[in-house]
Amino acid sequence: MTDRLYYHDPFLYEFEGEITEVVPAAEINGRHGVFLDRTAFYPTSGGQVHDTGWISPEGGSDAVRLRVTEVAEEEDGRVVHYIEADKPPERGTRIRGLIDPARRRDHMQQHSGQHVLSAAFIRLFNMATVSFHMGDDYCSIDLDTPSLNTEQVEQAELLANQIVQENRPVEIKFVTQEKAQNLGLRKTPRTDKDELRLIDIQDFDLSACGGTHVRGTGQIGCILLRRTERVRQGWRVEFVCGQRAVTTARRDYTTLTEAAGLFSGHIWDVPQQVRKSLEEVRAVRKSGEHILEELAELQAARLLSETAPFNGRKLIVHVFSERDLAFIRLLAQKLTRLESNVVALLGATSEQTSLVFAQSKGMPFDMGALLKESLAELGGRGGGTKDMAQGGAPRPAGVKAALEKVAARLRA
Ligand SMILES: [Zn+2]
Repeated sequence: MTDRLYYHDPFLYEFEGEITEVVPAAEINGRHGVFLDRTAFYPTSGGQVHDTGWISPEGGSDAVRLRVTEVAEEEDGRVVHYIEADKPPERGTRIRGLIDPARRRDHMQQHSGQHVLSAAFIRLFNMATVSFHMGDDYCSIDLDTPSLNTEQVEQAELLANQIVQENRPVEIKFVTQEKAQNLGLRKTPRTDKDELRLIDIQDFDLSACGGTHVRGTGQIGCILLRRTERVRQGWRVEFVCGQRAVTTARRDYTTLTEAAGLFSGHIWDVPQQVRKSLEEVRAVRKSGEHILEELAELQAARLLSETAPFNGRKLIVHVFSERDLAFIRLLAQKLTRLESNVVALLGATSEQTSLVFAQSKGMPFDMGALLKESLAELGGRGGGTKDMAQGGAPRPAGVKAALEKVAARLRA
């Protein structure tokens, strides 16, 4: 077993120890694994992610600092430190370990904040925490509850922050399993160890935990609740503590300021401004649709009046360079409904290249089949019914010629 120094002092960022075993990179996931007799490095466990830092072999120059990129717990209880090094130090080497203090402080703020928050949800609503996750950006707990509303979230946040502001002492205690039975732990661990490590937040929370914690709740800084989400086991609550809360609030403010700037308004008016803009967009879109409908109707009437019947049919062939598929489809509908003897072969090349073939009801051709033939030549795809078909081609070149080819066949 590795002697875990952080169990007793989570603020110990430097320590000395001895390498008891080295597993070369070739044998494990490409990184050297180093075991020590004692360590202050926290291995990923209990929802808290591992520390990073450096290991310096004793007697070497200060320049020889081997980066510890990950720390993990082995099944036998030993701690393995994964290091970056061309050649790993040898077994028996004395080392000096250095924890990355900023990362450790952040983890302590998040983990202690989690204990306070979980206890707040129990005290207020008897909602138990069933899991804890610490990510790079935010943390989350899963609450065992069928429902969770905004008011409850705000109440829990308020109580949790009151506990932070009261700066209650946070103590580490070691007790026997037997004694722990009567202490009313919020969380009882599944372990067969004789001795339990407890984190005691004075008169607020007592739980068994192996994590690194602050000395007083004031060091958590603050607790900011974020998104909530229904999950299989209950409700997930995302949160950030301390410096992360400040960073998150700063990012939110920057985002809101940018949005407010677009409206030349105050950040608090953003939702109302967005709502107003969306309404305007909807109104503009609707009037645009009306105008297009009218335009299609007028254009259809003009095209029909300009086209002389041939064998009793009107054949309209046109490529619109400034229109899209929606417009030529509308136009095809108008053309084939306004008169009963129309075949329309239309193309549009404004954004994507589109084709629409349509005929008045009762006409004898097969638009779907004709379109497929044209598209096969153009390298496009599409289809439809006997009276109406549409499709797309990869480029505008050749569309006009393809339509004329079909028209020539229909005239023959
Ligand atoms: Zn914990």
